[in-house]
Amino acid sequence: MEQNIDVAGVTKCFCGNPIIAREFLMGGVSYLADSRLENLKKLRMLDVPKIMIRLPMISEIEEVVKYADISLNSELDTVKKIGQVASSMDKVHGIVLMVDLGDLREGFFNKEDIISACEEVNSISGVKLMGIGTNLSCYGGVVPTCENLGRLTEIKESIENRIGRSLDIVSGGNSSSYQLVEAGKMPCGVNNLRLGTMLLLGHDEVNDKWIKGTYHDCFILKTEIVEIKDKPSKPIGEIGKDAFGNVPAFEDEGIIKRAICAIGKQDTDIKWMEPLDRSIKILGASSDHLILDISKSKMDYHVGSIVEFQLDYVAILSVMNSTYVRKVIKNRDEKVREG
Ligand SMILES: *Cc1c(COP(=O)(O)O)cnc(C)c1O
Repeated sequence: MEQNIDVAGVTKCFCGNPIIAREFLMGGVSYLADSRLENLKKLRMLDVPKIMIRLPMISEIEEVVKYADISLNSELDTVKKIGQVASSMDKVHGIVLMVDLGDLREGFFNKEDIISACEEVNSISGVKLMGIGTNLSCYGGVVPTCENLGRLTEIKESIENRIGRSLDIVSGGNSSSYQLVEAGKMPCGVNNLRLGTMLLLGHDEVNDKWIKGTYHDCFILKTEIVEIKDKPSKPIGEIGKDAFGNVPAFEDEGIIKRAICAIGKQDTDIKWMEPLDRSIKILGASSDHLILDISKSKMDYHVGSIVEFQLDYVAILSVMNSTYVRKVIKNRDEKVREG
């Protein structure tokens, strides 16, 4: 990436599928990163440093050291345990300490706390203090800015002064931080970003803009129609709670052409998917049934027809985690790589 920023390609959204991860490598990422050990394990044959991006559980340290080269941390007890385990395996595990810049998820909150934690980590054998990082916009919705990331680089300098050497990694956040790179406003001490959404969807969530030169339709969900019938748009009878405990409301649009597809909330999140046939309207879903209004479509749908949807992040995450959805990976030239 221009501006000397290394990218850690975040693979959790697609459950660490190594074929997709390899595309990240071919695209030039310097690390692969995941929040789940199960996923990092799937990536072990790919020769690139791996980062565990969820704070490790004490109970999983052996595997963290085995499958990740670096982990994001905010608890010294955990880092000490990592040091012991890594030493016993004759390894040195990289530590990135997290700084909470206000989003109020993981990380040290006070500057003095992070600096003294860095000093301590720097003295633990079996680990190497690689640097610091932060995460924004995930929990508190705090937008990455020159100001808050500027604080991160200021903290970096204080740490370097204190420990007498420079830090390798200053990780400035997730896809929401990418907009600062686009705008040329990323504080220059930041030299790493952990990108998932951005690489998969080419979407700048903060400004709700599509990044130029990226594809936005890499994840397509195909579903099969199991019923088509003309029925009213409004249910008949007294309306109570639906299968998910909500009381639904319906417009009366008379008789419409309704299709049911064989997929449901067990597999996907219907708020985050859009039919490729834009004249189709998603009416709702239960666990296993997706209900569509196809009245306005010019297509000749019948039972057995396939309806395709473009997926956004939340739906991709859900679909990739559903064992009921078959995953097929293709090149754009339609060559099937694996079922
Ligand atoms: C999920 C995650 C990321 C990647 O987030 P995107 O918004 O998908 O880029 C980066 N860092 C951490 C710590 C994460 O948990």
